[in-house]
Amino acid sequence: MNAAAPQTEINPDEIIVCPTCDAAYHLQRPSFDERAVCERCHTALITPRRKAGMQIIALALSVLILVVAAVCFPFLSIRAAGATNSISVLETALAFRGEAYGPLAWVVLGFIVVIPFVRAVLSIYVLVPLVFERPVYRGAKEAFKWLDRLHPWSMAEIFVLGCAVALVKVADLAEIRFGAAFWMFCGLVVVVLVQDSFLCRWSVWNSLVHPRKQ
Ligand SMILES: [Zn+2]
Repeated sequence: MNAAAPQTEINPDEIIVCPTCDAAYHLQRPSFDERAVCERCHTALITPRRKAGMQIIALALSVLILVVAAVCFPFLSIRAAGATNSISVLETALAFRGEAYGPLAWVVLGFIVVIPFVRAVLSIYVLVPLVFERPVYRGAKEAFKWLDRLHPWSMAEIFVLGCAVALVKVADLAEIRFGAAFWMFCGLVVVVLVQDSFLCRWSVWNSLVHPRKQ
């Protein structure tokens, strides 16, 4: 992309600013499956994909199913001294009710379950009318801003890694097996990563601001 020339009259709609280093460029829309990147810091600015909207909606529906199942199914089972016990993520949070660590358990549940769920709902809310060429829903711009704001707080992958490391450390004390929910969390991490990689923020925002131009 070419740097914006400050001495000419500039249409704000024809300018794109790098969110990482604030470099401004004249807007040049890449073709599908091409990428426009910042010359200074190489941040991806525009990454259009064919049928990305429908793919992201399908992935968001997968996230909703995986989150609900991952909360309800057993996360792990522990066998020690002849006794076996299995527990789900929700049961774990409820087990801390009334304990000193109770609030912390609910905060963790929010980071690994509630925020991925909310982000999936927001992406469906924003993208469904765009994909089906309907008028955007009320508050769609604000919903899209929150989709981006919540991104750093979606921590399912950190939870999965943390659990794997912690359980390896206690493997000598008891026989531990990962339950279906653990593998669902692993799937959730992959699906969320793919969903975020398909999302071209500039394209969605441009469609929300100029719905008839897309
Ligand atoms: Zn940059």
